[in-house]
Amino acid sequence: MDLLLPRRCAGCGDPGQVLCGPCRERLRRPPVRVVTPVDTHVPMWSLGPYAGTHRGVILAMKERGNLAVRSLIGPVLAAAVTHLQARGELPDRIDAPVPLTLVPAPTRARSARLRGGDHVTDLCRAAGLPVTPALRHRSTVRDQVGLDAEARRRNLAGSVELRHVPTGPVLLVDDVVTTGSTLAAAAEVLTAAGVTVCGAVVIAHA
Ligand SMILES: [Zn+2]
Repeated sequence: MDLLLPRRCAGCGDPGQVLCGPCRERLRRPPVRVVTPVDTHVPMWSLGPYAGTHRGVILAMKERGNLAVRSLIGPVLAAAVTHLQARGELPDRIDAPVPLTLVPAPTRARSARLRGGDHVTDLCRAAGLPVTPALRHRSTVRDQVGLDAEARRRNLAGSVELRHVPTGPVLLVDDVVTTGSTLAAAAEVLTAAGVTVCGAVVIAHA
């Protein structure tokens, strides 16, 4: 594709690189605690509001087969985890004998296929931390588009199922959080299976 299209920054659209210097700088800001309308019952951190650079990279990650951006945002996620561990907000190797495992938020299989693989799982793998894709949506779940917060919550209650139980403490990861209903359902099903959910990290909050 590089031969056909001029390379543009995923964050701001400037020509030149996959991700320009100023956008990298914006993504490097420390994660902030966010609270969603639906209580996830676990602490959640976001790398920034869903706008500008953050919105741009999320849209680019979703593009079919856009592995270049996914592999660049992986280290951004890893840096956020390290930062939270340094602040004592997430367990590090000293606190827990088993390292923290990333669990990607569930993606509907069909939309993931259309995008060329699940971008959130690719993002987690690119972070270089242990990853367990432990969750999936039940097939009966409706598309969330057009539903308000309460309708989303009802739609997603009991909507996430465990494919297998991860060992050790986990950190949920998603690209963007809006109501928090998906992450709440994910945290609930993991906790019910006896898994320690240390929190959730998202690239952006809307
Ligand atoms: Zn840029």
